[in-house]
Amino acid sequence: MSAPVIPLDQIIPEAQKVIRHLTRSGHKAYLVGGCVRDLLLGRSPKDFDIATDATPSEVRELFRNCRIIGRRFRLAHIIFGNKIIETATFRANPREEDENAPGDELYIHRDNVFGTAEEDARRRDFTMNGLFYDVEPGQVIDYVGGLHDIKQRSVRTIGDPNIRFREDPVRLLRAVKFAARLGFDIEDQTYRAMITHRADLQKSAVPRVLEEIYRLLRGGAAVESLVLLREVGLLTELLPELAGRLEERPQTLEPYLHLVDQGVAAGEVPSSGLLLVLLFAAELQALFDEETAARVRDPLALVDEVLGPLCARLRVARRDVERAKLLLLAQRRLFQVRKKGGKIPTSLLHREGFTEALALHGLLYRVARQAEGAAPSQIEAELSAWPLPR
Ligand code: ATP
Ligand code: MG
Repeated sequence: MSAPVIPLDQIIPEAQKVIRHLTRSGHKAYLVGGCVRDLLLGRSPKDFDIATDATPSEVRELFRNCRIIGRRFRLAHIIFGNKIIETATFRANPREEDENAPGDELYIHRDNVFGTAEEDARRRDFTMNGLFYDVEPGQVIDYVGGLHDIKQRSVRTIGDPNIRFREDPVRLLRAVKFAARLGFDIEDQTYRAMITHRADLQKSAVPRVLEEIYRLLRGGAAVESLVLLREVGLLTELLPELAGRLEERPQTLEPYLHLVDQGVAAGEVPSSGLLLVLLFAAELQALFDEETAARVRDPLALVDEVLGPLCARLRVARRDVERAKLLLLAQRRLFQVRKKGGKIPTSLLHREGFTEALALHGLLYRVARQAEGAAPSQIEAELSAWPLPR
């Protein structure tokens, strides 16, 4: 027997347990999706998902620690303390393959048809995400050419990209996310279809789109994501205000995103509020400048004016907008403290969100000084001289 493709110790014991119990009970059960892709790339997966031919009811019969979730498509969550192993029954693409379907008819409104393992692989978005891993023999099951594309480091839709992007335009953003995060190229036909169908993004459910925007920004490759979004013309669809500004002033976002990527690489998780602030840092500049900040009479009105249209359109959660405001208002206090060279008042230190407000302050300061041409070592020296807890 050949050695397993993925060493067993890379697969968390809980996932192994679920697979073993299902297979010993006569079912097929494989690791699937992002975890197989990441393990093959030598990255550590965010979560371990399982696909099986057991129905949700059958899964529930087999596991006491099981909860069935979802109304439309029922999934089993098998719970081990704070770890959850998502176990889904193989399902098929509910749409008949018909390339000539007019307009909206490709859009998938429901997603609840059980299927075979092969159908389950084929309904997935990109070939690298369509692999199964059969743990016991230690073999990858590849119905979609995913192994080849992972080796080539290529993002390719499963099947005709012109169909797959129209079925679910959120896949446009997922293609950008994977290409940016993994440093993959986007295969030619897939890339051309992204350009052709970029306007379809408007048909997607707003909360899904917003969630993907946050993921792109928080995923550790925000700079590369922005480059790709602009290249494909998706930024105009997503954030027209921002796209317009970057046409005029191209360098007004990347320096911030660069620092966000560095923070994420160091284990930070920027809040959605912070991300909103950074997207519009250029428009909010008056609030950050020592000279002008004091002159802005009603900072909250400025924030509403700048962030309002976007937040309304994308239905940004109220708590995220509040967080953005809190972070912005704290900047004024921080500038004052710094100017006077005093210590931060303890009252401020213990305020909610203060640590992140301080992080934002450092970030704004770095970008401002970089723009003035200060050397990185100089900037860091200035920052460590602040009378601020760091
Ligand atoms: P991440 O590491 O960001 O979690 P992932 O590949 O695990 O990446 P998920 O969003 O967790 O992505 O989805 C899990 C799997 O479900 C994917 O690998 C893919 O096979 C499938 N999938 C997710 N979203 C879609 C979609 N919009 N269309 C088709 N298949 C999808
Ligand atoms: Mg995942």
